[in-house]
Amino acid sequence: MKRETVPIVELLKETKGSVLILTHENPDGDALGSAMALYLFLKKKGKDVTVGCKDHVPHFLDFIPHVEDVVSLPDGKFYDIGIIVDSAGFYRAGTEVKVAKRIRIDHHVGGEFYGRYDYIDPNAPATASLVYEIIRAWDETAIDKDIATCIYVGLATDTGFFRYSNTNEYTFDLAKKLVHYGADPHYVYMMFSERESVNKMKLISKVLDTLTLYEDGLVAGITIYDRFFKETGTTYDDSEGLVNYPRSIEGVEVAFAMIEKPEEGSWKVSLRSKARVDVSKIAERLGGGGHKYASGCKIKASSYEEALRKLLEEVRKQIQLQKIHS
Ligand code: 5GP
Ligand code: MN
Repeated sequence: MKRETVPIVELLKETKGSVLILTHENPDGDALGSAMALYLFLKKKGKDVTVGCKDHVPHFLDFIPHVEDVVSLPDGKFYDIGIIVDSAGFYRAGTEVKVAKRIRIDHHVGGEFYGRYDYIDPNAPATASLVYEIIRAWDETAIDKDIATCIYVGLATDTGFFRYSNTNEYTFDLAKKLVHYGADPHYVYMMFSERESVNKMKLISKVLDTLTLYEDGLVAGITIYDRFFKETGTTYDDSEGLVNYPRSIEGVEVAFAMIEKPEEGSWKVSLRSKARVDVSKIAERLGGGGHKYASGCKIKASSYEEALRKLLEEVRKQIQLQKIHS
């Protein structure tokens, strides 16, 4: 754990070099909100800063202020400083990045460490709250409506709009400050949650048909086959959040979504825990990572059955280790 803001603030204050801020592939609200908040702040401070991501900005996040500035990676350029946010390591960028100095800002357990400038706190509700702490240590007066909105997007989305267990006094204190600086909770909620397409509803319908229970109802999973996207005119982005359906079932402790990635010959797995099971342990054993309640990994397999078997084996192991019964 590295909770010191001072080294990273000093480094960024002093640098005259180029800075690249980047997120993990398939960015979520916390990843893009954090990256954009830091980007807008550093721009205000006159820094030579770029924000980038391998994947495009999904529709449900296209309202983040100035998100059109995000460049597509790899861009072939070399940067003096690379700061990856909300990620266990630079490998999560999903593409090659050329930077002299690597820095990570994150609230995941474990992951890669690059040195004294990393700022990691697994107890933070969101990476966006760590970006806030960095800004606070430097110049809180620079927080305007746009920067506050970016941080708010990260904080709100990673706490399930202030419902998950990472919602505490600090979370509300920070939310209050952000609203004070101009963030609009109703606007963010409407833009993030209430702009679904009819096609996404059709996708949800197909996906819910695959719902299966395992381990006497302790585990529930859904499968998102690539053909579902084609049949409903949706894309990978539309799979975001679907894993919350199996988790919402009474008695379920572990929920998962398996998303087919034919171009990679793998299955992207999203894992969610309701309360008792530490799903980060399951994801870690499968080469991924995340948090106790939300984690993910990719499983390479020649068939769906093989991927499912590998996943269920690790899920079962964790349930047994923690002695969880229905
Ligand atoms: P999601 O299921 O929403 O994609 O991800 C849930 C959490 O697990 C996020 O915090 C995310 O960063 C982490 N996560 C998802 N996929 C991977 C992965 O392949 N590797 C690692 N290390 N973490 C992941
Ligand atoms: Mn996060």
